Parts: sequence; C-alpha cells; structure tokens
Amino acid sequence: MNNTRLSAHFSLGEFIHLDKYPDNIPSMQDVANMTYGCNMLLEPARRVVGPIIINSGFRNKAVNRRVGGVSNSQHLVGQAADIRPRDPRQFSRLVEFLRHHELTDQLLTGNGWMHISWNPFDTPRHYVRTGYYK
Ligand SMILES: [Zn+2]
Repeated sequence: MNNTRLSAHFSLGEFIHLDKYPDNIPSMQDVANMTYGCNMLLEPARRVVGPIIINSGFRNKAVNRRVGGVSNSQHLVGQAADIRPRDPRQFSRLVEFLRHHELTDQLLTGNGWMHISWNPFDTPRHYVRTGYYK
C-alpha cells in the first residue's frame, strides 16, 4: 500500500505513515481525494520549488485524536497535507505559489510548517493565514 502512486512524485506512504500508525488505512474516496491534491496542487508546486517533504497527510479518527487534530480536520478525508519546507527559501516560494493558486482551500503556516488543503467537491475558500519561518 505504501508504494501506491498518487501522482508522478508522491506515493500513498508519504500520506499515511503506516510505520508509525499501522491502522491508518484510508478509504477509496480518501485515496481519490489525496490523488486530486497531489496532481492538482502538490505536483504543480513541486515543479516550482523542487521536492516537497510531507509530514502528515491522511489521518483516520484515532490518529487525528492522537496528534491533537481538530475534529473536522480535512486530514480525515485526505484533503490536506502538512509540509515541512526544506529551508526559508522553499518556504517563501511555496507560500507565494499556493496562496495564489485557484485550488487552494486553506493555507496555514507557522514556524517552519505549512498546512495546505483542497476540496474536490466545493469552491475553494482561499483562506490564507501565514506566519513566518523563523
Ligand atoms: Zn494539517
């Protein structure tokens, strides 16, 4: 399952982290949602900023509780990814790219982290709240 490709450069393993969370199994719909995000947002972003490290993508309810995620988290349905930017330059280039992208639903950033979400079923909210890298 880990090696299942979601897009040219992203695999399911990067989103579900079965090594840490063995029961973190997505549904077919969750996988379809992740595939959408990878192809429509993350691959285009990668073309601009280079390889992107995904810290966390899909979380089932138990995993979401363990990491203290909000109860309506888009991670529960495969519509979000937490990115760990390599350095301040990649961080700022990612923010510039994603904040203006038509499919960005939410972009939240803080000290060295970034949460990006998408929604294949609704008009993107384009909600952006950015903090600084360091
Ligand atoms: Zn997140």
